[in-house]
Amino acid sequence: SVKELYDTTISFYDDTLRQQVIETQVIEASMYQGLENDEFEIYLQPKYDLKTEKVAGAEALIRWHHPTLGFLTPSRFIPIFEHNGFLLKLDCYVYEKVCCLLQSWIESGETPIPISVNMSRLHVRQQNFVEELEQMVNSHGVPAELIEIELTENAFFEDTQQIIDVMEQLKSKGFRLSMDDFGSGYSSLNLLNMLPVDTVKLDRAMFTETTKAERSKKVAANAIHIVRDLEMTAVAEGIETREQVDFLKNIDCDMVQGYFYAKPMPVIKFEQLAYNRVG
Ligand code: C2E
Ligand code: MG
Ligand code: MG
Ligand code: MG
Repeated sequence: SVKELYDTTISFYDDTLRQQVIETQVIEASMYQGLENDEFEIYLQPKYDLKTEKVAGAEALIRWHHPTLGFLTPSRFIPIFEHNGFLLKLDCYVYEKVCCLLQSWIESGETPIPISVNMSRLHVRQQNFVEELEQMVNSHGVPAELIEIELTENAFFEDTQQIIDVMEQLKSKGFRLSMDDFGSGYSSLNLLNMLPVDTVKLDRAMFTETTKAERSKKVAANAIHIVRDLEMTAVAEGIETREQVDFLKNIDCDMVQGYFYAKPMPVIKFEQLAYNRVG
């Protein structure tokens, strides 16, 4: 009956809601220890140059080996950490690890591969963020140009001017800048004008076929055209098929990141792939 359906629906929501509340509590209670105990691990996902089909960069993506909840990807904990502010700490951990890694590549005589890191808009309100980041790269002897900082287009809803200021400062220190998830929400083409970004990452939503395939292809092609015309690098995200790769080659997209080429992987696997190291 409708009433039964209603009751089970309510208790279903009750149960999942309760579970979510419990999980959030577990995550918040274990986050500091997680950092102390090295439970967080950086995965790298290669970015491929479409002309050479070689690895031309990587994105650092955080993972958590949680003692009771298991292997967690960011969707489970990043929103919680964004809300409680712990993301500031976690991001700094990521930046430090990335600096160590770049330093080790430089010291071993390899050509260092640029790495991009994600930045939360929480950092924009931190007084010394830019200085601290600069000190970090300096203390590892890593040129700032090897680090690209990705900021999602959704961050630009609020504090737009403040974000632009911080990006200008980062740019002046030599960091590369990237607009992430372009085309996923309410992108404004004007943002491309206002921001000192080197790279635009086009969200995978732009390349997933829909019933209006021809139209969405035109939108994607023209977006990439604008990005390249502005002399910025166009990176297509979430590319899973050969068909998508061929389409992107045709329209002169610069780089691709997606499961078609490689999924995010542990650092050691990435080094084997990019530097032909034997495991
Ligand atoms: P993002 O920065 O847009 O990263 C790309 C996401 O797309 C990653 O998800 C990646 O695993 C996924 N992806 C890549 N290729 C494909 C594909 O071909 N198909 C599909 N379906 N997905 C693909 P992930 O690792 O789960 O990260 C999700 C988001 O969490 C990231 O989106 C980023 O916004 C955030 N994030 C991850 N690590 C960090 C971090 O260290 N700090 C901060 N602040 N945010 C992070
Ligand atoms: Mg990103
Ligand atoms: Mg993205
Ligand atoms: Mg995304």
